[in-house]
Amino acid sequence: MRFDAISVIPEVFESYLGASILGRAQSRGIFEFHAHDLREWTHDRHRTVDDAPFGGGQGMLMMPEPIFEAVRCVSEYDQHKPYVIFFSPCGRPFDQSCAERLAHMDRIMFVCGRYEGMDERVYNLADEVISLGDYVLTGGELAALTVTDAVVRLLPGALGDSMSSVDESFSDGLLEYAQYTRPAVFEGMAVPEVLTSGDHGAVDRWRRKSAIERTALMRPDLLQTADLTPAERAFAEQAIEEHEGTAEVQK
Ligand code: SAH
Repeated sequence: MRFDAISVIPEVFESYLGASILGRAQSRGIFEFHAHDLREWTHDRHRTVDDAPFGGGQGMLMMPEPIFEAVRCVSEYDQHKPYVIFFSPCGRPFDQSCAERLAHMDRIMFVCGRYEGMDERVYNLADEVISLGDYVLTGGELAALTVTDAVVRLLPGALGDSMSSVDESFSDGLLEYAQYTRPAVFEGMAVPEVLTSGDHGAVDRWRRKSAIERTALMRPDLLQTADLTPAERAFAEQAIEEHEGTAEVQK
């Protein structure tokens, strides 16, 4: 899979994407990432990419010309047409199902904003506008890294044999169950006994309950679309009630 990012600070991508799992996936040819400096598509001496907003107001906006030129030019660098993603707090919130959808693409191009954002006309180039969440960043680079990271770990072979992206948070609409490693007792805190019992059926049942309980307490909004049996749903509701009960006592 090929990624291209257009940015005014193209140097920020390399160290993160070159390390650890993503670095190995890159050297094994699972994905390639090309960062391009937007200023290459400017034509003045100062390599200007921003200007003041019409109508007044604070800050500077990214001008449309370099962005249109860069997107068109970089699109030609490969035979596959890129799926073009812009970033904005006004975009569609990024989530795991979006990552899964993007993992089927041959090629993705990110256009990273800076300053106060972009001239609205550039969004005509976008196949999709993505938001990382309800907060404002100084630029789209972290968003591009986040999307790349979440997508690449879904690509076949990216995680290696020892890890799997099948059985984790959001894969079945729930948060992941609680996990433990050695030592079995740490500072008086013991690992749930069932996990050391060797009874795989019991472990599976405990993990399912743990996932439902955690989702009920931490992210009850996810329960609406989670795939639960009626008994599991009753268990989730009971977990919420019991938690509210203890919260009352603590007050
Ligand atoms: N003035 C804009 C924010 C601009 S922030 C507004 O109020 O909506 C500058 C750039 O950072 C944006 O163009 C975008 O590329 C990036 N950015 C900021 N917050 C983001 C978020 N929550 N998700 C994705 N990208 C974001």
